Amino acid sequence: MKKLILFGPPGAGKGTFSSQIKKVVTEIVHISTGDIFRENLKNETPLGLKAKSYMDKGELVPDEVVIDMVRDRLNKEDAKKSGFILDGFPRTLHQAEALSEITEVDLLLLLQVSRDIIFKRILGRYSCNNCGEIYNKYTLPTKVEGICDKCGAEIKFEQRSDDNEETLKSRLDAYEKNAKPLIKYYKKRGKLKKVDATDTLSFTDDDIKQIIGI
Ligand code: AMP
Repeated sequence: MKKLILFGPPGAGKGTFSSQIKKVVTEIVHISTGDIFRENLKNETPLGLKAKSYMDKGELVPDEVVIDMVRDRLNKEDAKKSGFILDGFPRTLHQAEALSEITEVDLLLLLQVSRDIIFKRILGRYSCNNCGEIYNKYTLPTKVEGICDKCGAEIKFEQRSDDNEETLKSRLDAYEKNAKPLIKYYKKRGKLKKVDATDTLSFTDDDIKQIIGI
C-alpha cells in the first residue's frame, strides 16, 4: 500500500501522472484538492463558495479549510485500506505538518518542468464538456479535431476559469513562495524523490513502478 504526494508547479502534470500511477496501482485512491474544490464550486456548496474568491485570483484557499477537507477524505475507508495519491496537497509547510498528524506518507514526488512547458500546458489546457477528459491545444490535441477521443462528443472548448495568464502568474508566485520549505521538510525526512516531468506520457509501467517504489 502506497501513500504518495504529488508536488510541483501548476502545469507540472500532477493530474496526468496520477492517472498513470492509477493504471499501475488500480486500487489507489486519487485525491485532488483542486478537483474537490471545483466539484463543490459547481454544486454551489458552502465549501465551494468559501473557496471561490481565492481560486478566481489564483491564491491559496486558507489552510484550515483545506486541512479539514483533506482530513475527512483521508479518514474514509478506501484511502485507509488502499493508499492514496495526494494531488495538490500539501502546498504549504503548515499543511505538511498537519498531514503528518493525520497519517504518515511514503514519498513526495517532486515533478519538475521548465517554465516554458508550464505556460504551454496551462494556457493550452481544455477539457471535454461532456466527459471531462483533458486535452491540450499544443501538446495533446484530440485525434480528430473537435471530437473527444474518449466519449466521441463534439467538444466545446472549455478552459478552467483559472487557466489564464494573469491567474497563472499568481499561482506560480504562490507555488514559489511555499515550495522551498516544503521540499526541505520532506527531504529532511528522506521522503523526497525528484521526477523529470517533461514527458511523463513516455513512461512505461516499469518506470512508474520504479518511481513509486513497488
Ligand atoms: P489545482 O487544481 O491543484 O491547481 O488547484 C486549483 C486551486 O484550488 C488553487 O489555485 C487554490 O486556489 C485551490 N487549492 C487547491 N489545493 C489547495 C491547497 N492544498 N491549499 C490551498 N489552496 C488549494
